[in-house]
Amino acid sequence: MSDMKIELDNEIYNVIIERKRTTKNTYIRVKENLDIYVTCNTLTTNHFIIKLINDNQKRIIKMIIIQKKKKAKEEFFYYLGKKYDLVYLNKKGITFGDEKVFVSSDFDLDKWYKKEALKIFQIELDKMYDAFIYKIPYPSLTIRKMKTRWGVCNVREHKVTLNLELIKKDIKYLDYVIVHELSHLLYANHSKDFWDCVGDNYPDYKKIRKELKQDE
Ligand SMILES: [Zn+2]
Repeated sequence: MSDMKIELDNEIYNVIIERKRTTKNTYIRVKENLDIYVTCNTLTTNHFIIKLINDNQKRIIKMIIIQKKKKAKEEFFYYLGKKYDLVYLNKKGITFGDEKVFVSSDFDLDKWYKKEALKIFQIELDKMYDAFIYKIPYPSLTIRKMKTRWGVCNVREHKVTLNLELIKKDIKYLDYVIVHELSHLLYANHSKDFWDCVGDNYPDYKKIRKELKQDE
């Protein structure tokens, strides 16, 4: 779905035009999927945009190269502890092979991870909750990307937040983080009693905790 196509350096690119009443100047940027986005005023003509792109060819090609390099760096795909080669295809959606994962260039990986995490994290939370040997309130689950923590527990609201990044790791790490957060429903600190509670519900926790830390 592009507003126009343009040839640069022997390749065809989609140009997507976003017209805004409040925009005075015209801005060009290249998105991850290599579409060229032009933000401009409502009154800017297509003719003007084409001329602007042609006048700025060198700069745009540079932006395309930057995006291509960025993509080359992200050529691996991690899911539940397994590493796949990430291969971009012109086919919609996501397909799993033994060692490879195929996606279209505009595939929203984070959205897909989130969808998977909503299913898997809830199943694991229920599993660890049912197996928990002390009586605790049943918590609600939130999933989001976090920079510095694997999990957070809001003791008062009985709310557990898990880091979306856990979807990339072996499920044993997810289970440990869940037990850790569930234990906070009994102990809001990291006291000896807290760690005893973690150990009672996840005997191998010391090793797992160390591995998670090394990873950070
Ligand atoms: Zn903690």
